[in-house]
Amino acid sequence: MYVTIQHFRVLIYKSALKQLSLMKTSELPGFYKLPPEERLKIVKEFADLTEEEVEILKEGLLPLDQANRMIENVVGIMPLPIGIATNFRINGRDYLVPMAIEEPSVVAAASNAAKMARVKGGFFTESTQPVMIGQIQLVNVNDPKKACADIRAAKEEILKKANEQDPVLVKLGGGAVDLEAREIQTERGPMVVVHLLVDVRDAMGANVINTMSEAVAPLLEKITGGKVRLRIVSNLAIYRLARAKAVFAKEALGGEEVVEAILDAYAFAVSDIFRCVTHNKGIMNGVIAVALATANDTRALEAGAHAYAAMDGRYRPLSRWSKTSDGDLLGEVELPVAVGVVGGVTAVHPLAKICRKILGVKSARELGEVMAAVGLANNLAAMRALATEGIQRGHMKLHARNIAMMAGAEGELVDIVAERMVAERKIRVDRAKEILEELKKG
Ligand code: NAD
Repeated sequence: MYVTIQHFRVLIYKSALKQLSLMKTSELPGFYKLPPEERLKIVKEFADLTEEEVEILKEGLLPLDQANRMIENVVGIMPLPIGIATNFRINGRDYLVPMAIEEPSVVAAASNAAKMARVKGGFFTESTQPVMIGQIQLVNVNDPKKACADIRAAKEEILKKANEQDPVLVKLGGGAVDLEAREIQTERGPMVVVHLLVDVRDAMGANVINTMSEAVAPLLEKITGGKVRLRIVSNLAIYRLARAKAVFAKEALGGEEVVEAILDAYAFAVSDIFRCVTHNKGIMNGVIAVALATANDTRALEAGAHAYAAMDGRYRPLSRWSKTSDGDLLGEVELPVAVGVVGGVTAVHPLAKICRKILGVKSARELGEVMAAVGLANNLAAMRALATEGIQRGHMKLHARNIAMMAGAEGELVDIVAERMVAERKIRVDRAKEILEELKKG
């Protein structure tokens, strides 16, 4: 019976495949019920993947010698599942979103929220120019105020020195564009901090910024008479923001009461830091999963997002939720997105390259905007689940599979044991072992 249904689904999808290449829709009802090989065929068609790319994706391959060139003391690889979030429509275009994550429910939650958002046209995004900050710290400055004024007066010379370091970036329309200088008071006395603002185009930018910051340091010492200490990118990328918004129709969410419940959940996060950090973690579930799939620096994103959430001195939600005049739910998110589609390992990691091809993003700004949309989707899905049936029901179904595997189940048995535990509402390793024993005997 199981095989027949599976076969039937495959037949339906084979005919749908032909249409897909023309329509390029990310709305794929039943995608989650397909075996991974069939999902891969759909993704291949959607993103025009080659046979070789499909193989790399399937095997999750990162050659050991390549890994050995990435970090130090390499002894192995840590593979993670890559799931595809469906239903995303962003600025009128459909995206299949690859998400690399170990946590169950995140991919399903993003897909569900994206489906709800489609009713009102999906997500709408925008972003600022990709400007990052390099910090240069000066100590032993005799007259910090005068030093700041002198630095500002020498701006053109300093920017020229910075831009000499990266003609490629400058040719692409990027490079150092501005600077800021200010005095800070510290426990070791006053210091001068210079911010070099650099348009890093499609790179994450940390290396570019660090190189430029180091290069202008001697010049800053000469101008101020002080001593340079740190020269490093700031992960609080306040000039590199992505914004996403979406309207979720009350009917799609489950009615007016669900809208009210979500607004209560949001008000809780606004007023309570213990809730707020988990609210923001829910947003980062989506952001980081896309960042990992595209081999971006997840630590930089996390650090930047949480610092940005506390920008005005109080830790706040990265998203805002309100009711429209029609009684629907409006969600908006804004966060710093220091991500790249070139540089680092983004363009050399074989899986990241394929994930980016699936996403079809052409620039770092577009990638950042997609991340913001996915973060908003995950935020909505988490609040909706929490404010209604609770998160465990959906979560536990997937978690049950992990428990089944922990108990030693393999292959088909994983799903059979998991389904039994969910039906019994006893999702525990001891019960999984018992069921396994029963199945083996029977
Ligand atoms: P990178 O230096 O590898 O690549 C950027 C370079 O690529 C640019 O300097 C430019 O010359 C070239 N380039 C070619 N085409 C480009 C385009 N379209 N747009 C922009 N540049 C283009 O990488 P990066 O992005 O400067 O640095 C990212 C790496 O730095 C990440 O691996 C990150 O983990 C790491 N890092 C992070 C921190 C931090 O976040 N605090 C600190 C140090 C290093």
